[in-house]
Amino acid sequence: MPMKLGLRLVAGLLLCALSAVAVAQERMDDVLGDLRAHGYATAATAIKRLQAVQDVPGPTAPLDRRAAYHRELLALTRGGRYAEIQRASSAALQRMADQEGCLRCRFDLALAAFYRGVLDKATRANAVIRLREAEALQRQLDSRDSLRELLAAQAGLDRWQGDYNDAIALLVRASELAKMDGNLAAQVHYLGLMASLNADRGDPKRAIELGNEAYRMAEAIGYLEERSTILLDLGHAYSLAGERQQQRTVLEKALALTGDDPDMLGDKIIILNNLADFWLSQPQGYPRTLAYAREALALARGQGLQRETIAPLANIGIALAGLGDVDQGVAMLRESVALSKQGDIDVYTLGITQELVKVLRNARRYEEALDELQGIMDLQEKRAVQARETAVLDLQEKYSAERKADEIEKLAAQNRLKQTQLEAEGWRQRLWLALAVILALVMVGLWLLIKRARRANRKLTHVNAALALQSATDALTGAFNRRHAQAMLDGLQQQMEQAPPGQCIGLMLLDLDLFKRINDTRGHAAGDAVLVETVRRLQAKLRQNDLVARWGGEEFVLVLPTTPAAALPLVAKKVLDAIGAEPVMFDGQAIPVSVSLGIVAYPMMPGQSWVAALGLADSALYLAKAGGRNQAICLTRVEVDAACSEADLTRLREAGQADWRVIDGPLLGANAGQARKPAPPTAE
Ligand code: GH3
Ligand code: MG
Ligand code: MG
Repeated sequence: MPMKLGLRLVAGLLLCALSAVAVAQERMDDVLGDLRAHGYATAATAIKRLQAVQDVPGPTAPLDRRAAYHRELLALTRGGRYAEIQRASSAALQRMADQEGCLRCRFDLALAAFYRGVLDKATRANAVIRLREAEALQRQLDSRDSLRELLAAQAGLDRWQGDYNDAIALLVRASELAKMDGNLAAQVHYLGLMASLNADRGDPKRAIELGNEAYRMAEAIGYLEERSTILLDLGHAYSLAGERQQQRTVLEKALALTGDDPDMLGDKIIILNNLADFWLSQPQGYPRTLAYAREALALARGQGLQRETIAPLANIGIALAGLGDVDQGVAMLRESVALSKQGDIDVYTLGITQELVKVLRNARRYEEALDELQGIMDLQEKRAVQARETAVLDLQEKYSAERKADEIEKLAAQNRLKQTQLEAEGWRQRLWLALAVILALVMVGLWLLIKRARRANRKLTHVNAALALQSATDALTGAFNRRHAQAMLDGLQQQMEQAPPGQCIGLMLLDLDLFKRINDTRGHAAGDAVLVETVRRLQAKLRQNDLVARWGGEEFVLVLPTTPAAALPLVAKKVLDAIGAEPVMFDGQAIPVSVSLGIVAYPMMPGQSWVAALGLADSALYLAKAGGRNQAICLTRVEVDAACSEADLTRLREAGQADWRVIDGPLLGANAGQARKPAPPTAE
């Protein structure tokens, strides 16, 4: 039939041409958009599609296009397959980071390194460091996309640390960001993660609700890869909720979805194992267990995944023994135990050995059962030693409540196992075991108590610090209050009594000029604003260890512990300028402000009290007010240590027993009403 053949050939060619055009026409932005809107069937197809776009960004393409391309490839290879592509894209991003200063590339690399590292206990600490690096970089990036990625990674870390609630909260935020960007694929992914986190935190009902919602959404957008993962998690949630038939239904559905795609093999092996497990618990289920477990075993061996053969081997062993082939069953179980011991997977070893012991006991092979139990004893002994060694370190590590519950559950499981063994070995060992368990429980209890006490202590310290600060400061201005200043001066007085002669502290008493007038003409709120701004300017000008305290009303004490007497006039000038040079702005009005200062170097004579010194500073302040305000009077010598009025001071100076320097403030605007001319001190 040459005619038909010809037609078929033409049709075939046409199809080829069409598909070639279709492939050639895809552009990078379209593919990236499509991946966001629909996810992908498998990582492999997505990678191929991306590599085949007609505008693969070459070395001369703009930086953000090149970065976007490699970022996507890096994310697609996160699962650990396609290491070659992962390396190439990492190297490309690294070059862009190093040579073109691409911050976002640095962020992507840090995040990828985090995901690589967190999977393995040995590299986890380093992974956490890389996440901190990503956090710091993200703060410099102004991008919602990177923030979303960061939140998801932080959720991953929380999950590893057992902080399931925190992880869920972070994913809720990430989900909202994904929604804003129309990134449906990310939304589905986060929803699926939230579902399985709910299973982890012991709420299978919520996990089932969210899992079903995630599945419906994944189906609606056509996100195939995510669907099987969601179903797998759903199966787990159904089993936790005791809904075994539902578990079976979703697992079978998941199995049908995975097909033979190599990208899905990991999921497929787990699904087969779970189905095998399911049938173990069903009447007459052994043949089906065998079938599923054998398929899983063949797949795992075909891929060289040794660890993944442990569970199928155990399931096959149990089923064979159940079907009457005890020898073969025991052999399979032993192989499984041996592999799990190699892999150092205690949970497996304990669980599978328990099954092995059950099989041996049913077959009345007691001696072998005892040998197996002895093996577990040795293992537990070894682990107990390790546990004691790490207990101290663990105290410092962050453990969540769920984690602790897990630990206790594990201990209880070990306890149950030991009980079985004791029945065979007699009451002496039973006693030992009970002692060991009690000791372990006491240790865990103690550890919990210490942790709780520490946390409570930490909280208390924070609260105390906050309260202390509150009671030391003035509510309006934030300056220290009079009580705090007095306490500090008491302390300094004691220090000065021990100090070598000549050492001194600067004491300044500062009073705002004609402040009543500001209140009267501009209102009390304006007065308050002037007080706040005055303190801000003082704090900005003075040194870190200088103290600014509100002594009362609009009067402040400045304590300068490290300023020598000779430098006090300079500091006074700085203070006068800082406050007087610029008017304070309030409510659109410029309010001219000036201050007067009375200054002493404390102590002015040996053994002087700070109260006496401050009394002298007050007299000096009066002199400054009388001298026309907007100035500082710095006493350089006073030979009496008694309170004296400004008139006394003037008399002492005439008698050669006192002296001071006058430091003028900046020239003030004409409307300040405070131009330097003598004015009588106003009554308080
Ligand atoms: P002088 O230059 O002589 O110091 O004149 P003065 O007007 O500043 O006189 P005085 O120091 O006696 O004025 C203190 C005024 O400060 C009286 C009081 O109403 C006002 N005051 C005290 N505390 C506050 C406050 O917290 N907020 C406001 N807005 N005003 C305050
Ligand atoms: Mg005043
Ligand atoms: Mg006053």
